[in-house]
Amino acid sequence: MKNQLRQTMISISALTLLAAGAATNALAQEPGKPKLILQITVDQLRGDMPSRYYDRFGEGGFRYLMENGTVFQDAQHSHANTETIVGHVTLATGAVPAAHGMIGNVWLDRSSGELAYNVEDARYPILSEGAGVDKSTEIDPTQRTARSDGRSPSNIMVSTFSDELTLSLGGNAKVFGVSVKDRGAISMAGHTGKAFWFSKKLGEFITSSFYYDDYPEWVSTWNAQKLANRYAGTSWDLLNDQSTYMFGDADDRPYETALPGFGRVFPHPFGEADSKFFTTLLTISPAGDDLTLDFAKALIQNEDIGDDATTDYLAVSFSSTDYVGHVFGPSSLEGEDNILRLDRTLAELFRFVDEEVGLDETLIVLSSDHGGPEAPGYLSELGFEADYIDPDSFDRDGAIAALKARFGIGEKLIDTYFHPYLYLNREEIRRQGLDQLEVEQAVADEVSKFDGVTLALPSSALASGKVPETPITRLILNNYNPRRSGDIYLVFDPNRFINDFDGLTVATTHGSPWRYDTYVPIIFAGKGVSAKQVGRPVETVDIAPTLSIMVGAKLPSGSVGSPLLEVLQAD
Ligand SMILES: [Zn+2]
Repeated sequence: MKNQLRQTMISISALTLLAAGAATNALAQEPGKPKLILQITVDQLRGDMPSRYYDRFGEGGFRYLMENGTVFQDAQHSHANTETIVGHVTLATGAVPAAHGMIGNVWLDRSSGELAYNVEDARYPILSEGAGVDKSTEIDPTQRTARSDGRSPSNIMVSTFSDELTLSLGGNAKVFGVSVKDRGAISMAGHTGKAFWFSKKLGEFITSSFYYDDYPEWVSTWNAQKLANRYAGTSWDLLNDQSTYMFGDADDRPYETALPGFGRVFPHPFGEADSKFFTTLLTISPAGDDLTLDFAKALIQNEDIGDDATTDYLAVSFSSTDYVGHVFGPSSLEGEDNILRLDRTLAELFRFVDEEVGLDETLIVLSSDHGGPEAPGYLSELGFEADYIDPDSFDRDGAIAALKARFGIGEKLIDTYFHPYLYLNREEIRRQGLDQLEVEQAVADEVSKFDGVTLALPSSALASGKVPETPITRLILNNYNPRRSGDIYLVFDPNRFINDFDGLTVATTHGSPWRYDTYVPIIFAGKGVSAKQVGRPVETVDIAPTLSIMVGAKLPSGSVGSPLLEVLQAD
């Protein structure tokens, strides 16, 4: 009783202090809560990459994380469509696409009959004039589907960890997302943070009216430096002596994409600042990550990130690894040099954070939105037979025409195919009085006989629970959202994929449920985290709930992952 009374009196005096404004620090300096959570996403960093290049890394980058952090050696995405927005939003929310709604970079908007790009939102235009996607230079085919230049996180249907941090601290946390890609920044900043991404058209970092009415002054100042132009007339050169590389003898490979002027071998010239593809080429090289780093440093300094005891959140998504992977393949001299340079970029980011915030006051988590396949040409060189998929030769025997005749469908039966779904002509199916499930099943049966198709899975069957539970169907079910998913999910055979980017032939494309695409690193390091290697299987949905528990916030609304005890129980 006496003790209780004393405790009450202590808390009353604490309250008095709080009211006087003096206890804010005392309360916030609770052990364990970092001043900054730095969530790093490396786009298309397959899980084996950090250890593949461990011996070649310098100090302070990947090695800082791998030597001081908790490293999960078997981390996988648990959804089938391993694309950029799907992976980022999964990392951000701890939810699967069935719940967070980002089932693909692009889906068919049934209400308009048009393709929809994940973070497009016509209500919130970009703040800079003429900063939108230039369809004539954009090599990312998903970006080209966007109907408007407006951007927002509105299509994300659940809360992100960053949202929960905002909510738990009464709006006092500073929350930001930065990336070359709009979807790499917007996804992680969530509904309550601020996002900046790179406009290839302007060579500047931009944002939309969802986030700001006007640019903060420091952003305008940063953009006015025109840092991208410093690469004009220069080229991407090797960081080290070519003979020291794993792929030192393998620069010129026929399956690499030879972009005009950029070529297949080092050095890769960027061209002049006014040349059409200048900024696009910067993003297909370590220069894109360098610019992202520089902008992130300016953000940390000018927004006073991590300068008080309230936990702030900064997400940085590095995009170069993905572009380089698509164009040259992950196992290429370009892929290797890009990761060695990314390692230096990370080391500089960590050095800067140490100076500004203190690495011991920062919690870092690094992962990836997806892995990636090897180029079939690389596999073939090593004796593994592989080739791309040619969708034009799919229906050699006219199977779809025969189905149309059987069902009496005069119009198009298949509305469109956009990875990974076939969208059927639902109106025509209805008009003919046909059963949607029956038609889906019939089309799926025919399509699964096509060359290179492992599985064609009707959505109606998924919705009605008529699908046998296998490792792959579990991933497809996790990807199924009735409002956005198409009618038939297509899975190609392992190591087979379509390498046509809207007319541009690329070396590799990810997006499958196979292990090379789902396999990513998960490394936690910094405040409260101890050095260990964890071999048990974990999933990317585990990250967001772990972060929530670390700062005492609610779990994100759609999160289904399990908190990673190896991180929470440091020793
Ligand atoms: Zn990609």
